[in-house]
Amino acid sequence: MAKLHLITYGCQMNEYDSERVAGLLKTLHHYDLTDREDDADVILLNTCSIREKAEEKVFSKLGQLKPLKRKNPELIIGVMGCMAQLRQAAIMERAPMVDLVFGSPAMSRVGELVERVRRERRPVLETGEAPLVKITAKPQAGDRLKAFVTVMEGCDKFCTFCVVPYTRGRERSHTPESILAEIRGLAEQGYREATLLGQNVNAYGKDLDPPTDLAALIEQVNDIPGIERIRFVTSNPVNLTSRLIRAMAEVPKVCEYLHLPVQSGSDRVLARMNRGYTRNRYLELIAELKETVSGVALSADLIVGFPGESEADFEATVETVEAVRYDSLFAFRYSPRPRTPAAEFPDQVPDEIKARRLTQLLEVANRVSAETSRTLEGQTLEVLVDGVSKKNPRELSGRTRCNRVVNFDGEGRTLYGELVQVRITQAMPHSLRGELVTRRTDHVG
Ligand code: SAM
Repeated sequence: MAKLHLITYGCQMNEYDSERVAGLLKTLHHYDLTDREDDADVILLNTCSIREKAEEKVFSKLGQLKPLKRKNPELIIGVMGCMAQLRQAAIMERAPMVDLVFGSPAMSRVGELVERVRRERRPVLETGEAPLVKITAKPQAGDRLKAFVTVMEGCDKFCTFCVVPYTRGRERSHTPESILAEIRGLAEQGYREATLLGQNVNAYGKDLDPPTDLAALIEQVNDIPGIERIRFVTSNPVNLTSRLIRAMAEVPKVCEYLHLPVQSGSDRVLARMNRGYTRNRYLELIAELKETVSGVALSADLIVGFPGESEADFEATVETVEAVRYDSLFAFRYSPRPRTPAAEFPDQVPDEIKARRLTQLLEVANRVSAETSRTLEGQTLEVLVDGVSKKNPRELSGRTRCNRVVNFDGEGRTLYGELVQVRITQAMPHSLRGELVTRRTDHVG
């Protein structure tokens, strides 16, 4: 049996794509997954281009793989995903031993591409556009509780810092029928939580005929027996409607958690980023969310050191973090990206200033997050048990609907995949501690 080793970089959509590629190669071409590079016939790197650091990791990995290829010239090395789409010339130049480069539009033909490399014994490049295909093949996975499901791909927003429109193309939605069929299949396999994925997931359905939206989709997912929790990520403030906010409050299985990237708290920077909203508009959306969705937890992405960001602009970002009171925050130093307008802006911010602002922002974010965590002490929350605690294998671990990790004594029971009530006793820096109150099944009968 031929063996496949898959290395995934980047976002959840890449994880989803990797699973599908492994599933296709398994079902159609009988490749088994191996976690050993030196045991593989095919090594695929599923790559990310969002920041320069992510690309450098891939180039360095390709360097490490060189001796393996020298030892075994039959080994096929492939680069797939965003970097394949954006950086094919750089890949072939810096890592000429790569046999196969293909972007996400060619993913459904991975088996045929690998066979072509084998037959023709020369590098194969496939980075053209192609219609969106729903691939549902999936290998047996370790986590059989929580699944990602891509509902749409691409981005039409053209933020001046971002490569996504160039790597993933325009916004295209899968049909509700294909998504619901996939989630029904997952529920039958025992999955209990579905996270709907899209680069701008809340723009879902606008491009379909007839058009639909994310609120309609989650209502239908809510009716699938077996699925207990629904999440969706990443939402764009521009597409956040009152209808979706209401659906978050009213559709029972939708979790009270929203990741809503803000990127900056300064109107001047937001305009130069081409984000399409002001700080006030963003804060209005946050106010509506907090008012409508009781106990909602919020997280966001932020960029520091965008070209031209002054101290006053940065202070406006810090104030926004204080005002929103995020549960968690993902902050990045601005990284100039090929083909994006901001990379050409003349007023680039020096690295030391970016580093200082990042440290400062993370300090504020950690303090705010610790304060919000403490408000949870004493509350009893629903937890989906997904394993054991990382620090103490005798304790169980799970996540609240608001996506917080909770560790607690399971009193000798496994409870894997069950929804239990846990009283929060202590907020720790990155998790909560609690005590088991009851299992949901304890109420039945
Ligand atoms: N589509 C989402 C949106 O526009 O709100 C964001 C998805 S992106 C994959 C994840 C995050 O990476 C972005 O929200 C942004 O904070 C960050 N990011 C994107 N381009 C970046 C760049 N050039 N430098 C630093 N961070 C960047």
